[in-house]
Amino acid sequence: MRLIFLGPPGAGKGTQAEFICRDFHIKQLSTGDLLRFHRKQGTELGRKAQQYMDRGELVPDSLIIDMIKEELVKPEYKNGYLLDGFPRTIAQAEALDKLLEELNQKLDYVLILDVQTEEIVTRLTARRTCKICGKTYHLIFNPPKVDGKCDIDGGELYQRTDDNEETVRNRLAVYEKQTKPLIDFYTKKGIAYFINGQGEIEKIYKQIQEILLKTKRL
Ligand code: ADP
Ligand code: ADP
Repeated sequence: MRLIFLGPPGAGKGTQAEFICRDFHIKQLSTGDLLRFHRKQGTELGRKAQQYMDRGELVPDSLIIDMIKEELVKPEYKNGYLLDGFPRTIAQAEALDKLLEELNQKLDYVLILDVQTEEIVTRLTARRTCKICGKTYHLIFNPPKVDGKCDIDGGELYQRTDDNEETVRNRLAVYEKQTKPLIDFYTKKGIAYFINGQGEIEKIYKQIQEILLKTKRL
């Protein structure tokens, strides 16, 4: 199964992706996580991406597309994958189409998570992220079992530098302008599914399970 998770920053893509990948045995590929890893390692790509990420702007398409091409050919993605945070522009979606053709692969689902702007600002300004595995928490809505520590690996939780109100609002504007057109792009292909991203985390996952099980293209 191959799917794309679309939705504004803070919609809960990472949170839900964890459940999907666990239950459907596929690998998550988050371009945001991958870019943060490059930054931590101090690679050339990490250095180039830094300024864009800190401003809440998109990293140039060519860098992202090269990164994805390098990643998706790895054997761990053979059984399927969930793309989280990619594609984010029409140019990226077209490049993905081309790559899928080369790999002789087909996309099964594009899940679109919808959440209102003010809820997103509340979510992201109190989001905390694990330094080791990237799992996200919310101080009030989705707190860790032990304060400041990741439930999975005990890693220290930190606040991403781009999770401040000003940058969040910029990321939302970037989403509206550059990423939202993808909804139309994938609706035309007949593989787009809409999910209300507000409400309890477990209930949202139930909606997703229903779609993935009912339309079964496994
Ligand atoms: P994305 O990957 O789309 O940017 P995350 O999964 O990191 O979003 O979620 C953003 C923030 O919102 C995190 O702090 C997360 O714990 C919280 N969150 C996720 N789902 C919900 C929900 N249904 N209700 C309230 N908060 C949520
Ligand atoms: P969120 O889902 O909370 O917006 P991500 O972790 O997906 O955050 O992305 C963080 C930042 O990484 C983005 O604001 C952007 O600068 C960069 N980024 C991630 N994925 C892409 C992409 N596909 N294209 C361009 N930039 C990206």
